[in-house]
Amino acid sequence: MGLVLFLMAALWGLGWVMKTPIRARLIMIALLYLAVILAQLLLPETAELRRATGGDVRPWLVLGGVVALGYGYSRLIARLRRSPPETPQPNPDSFREAELNRYARHIILREIGGTGQKKLKSAKVLVVGAGGLGSPALLYLAAAGVGTIGVIDDDTVDGTNLQRQIIHTDERIGMPKVFSAQAAMQALNPFITIRPYNRRLDAETAATLFAEYDLILDGTDNFDTRYLVNRAAVATGKPLIAAAITQWEGQISLYHPATDAPCYECIFPQRPAPGLAPSCAEAGVIAPLPGILGTMMANEALKEITGAGTGLRGRMILWDALYSETRTMRLKRRADCACCATVSAGPA
Ligand SMILES: [Zn+2]
Repeated sequence: MGLVLFLMAALWGLGWVMKTPIRARLIMIALLYLAVILAQLLLPETAELRRATGGDVRPWLVLGGVVALGYGYSRLIARLRRSPPETPQPNPDSFREAELNRYARHIILREIGGTGQKKLKSAKVLVVGAGGLGSPALLYLAAAGVGTIGVIDDDTVDGTNLQRQIIHTDERIGMPKVFSAQAAMQALNPFITIRPYNRRLDAETAATLFAEYDLILDGTDNFDTRYLVNRAAVATGKPLIAAAITQWEGQISLYHPATDAPCYECIFPQRPAPGLAPSCAEAGVIAPLPGILGTMMANEALKEITGAGTGLRGRMILWDALYSETRTMRLKRRADCACCATVSAGPA
């Protein structure tokens, strides 16, 4: 037996000197081992070769078993070591230690708590427009831990945006806004999923897209898209938080005929005549104004998801930034609304 073990060691050493691959050396030693086993089993007890290799098959089988066990154990350890490190993945049912720490100031709020934070984590919110209103809305939704955030916009970051669209940066000028926004949100919170849609919202796909989300936020700056967003939100029964700004004034409300709140068209049945409602590009806008209104959008979104407090169903807040005044208007559905007249309201 000693002779065979010596031969095995010699094979290994020789292979090492000749730089034979470890695999080839192992195969040679395994062949030698098999030959010995066969010699023990097939040759008569008196045969010289069988006597020279120990004369008994049992110690060889024990040796083979021990080596096989050792090899299997080392492979198992290697596989365990190779398994990839944990990456943050949104899981609606549980929070990691790092997430509990991140959302600690929410979790101690009576109106949010652990239950509310779980609702935020499993919520899906779509933000239309990654511009002035979308910037703070998206950042605060991400920071707050909304688990899935969609953002749709077909624009690219322009130098004139950076006076107020704080989700973008100077070095991302020229990049599609949705990817710039995605980078900023992911950097702020790696525990959430961002879905960027680098295209213009159109009537054909809006309803399909909205159906994938629980709540829609509209921060667009043109009336075509605003009416389109409202129609798709009504068609899919989703609550819509929409804000608008110009110069020093902003407004915000939550539109949702399915819970007897008006829709956008109930309040604005007709588009303003061209020139009467100039865009920010034409009329100008003070930098923090979209920040204030966009942040209010995020705040209303978090309330809507968690059920905290009283939202803006049937109410519109008007914010005058120049004179620092707010007004709240009561809003009602219009029975003859071209958009939502056929929608019957369920419980709020
Ligand atoms: Zn309506």
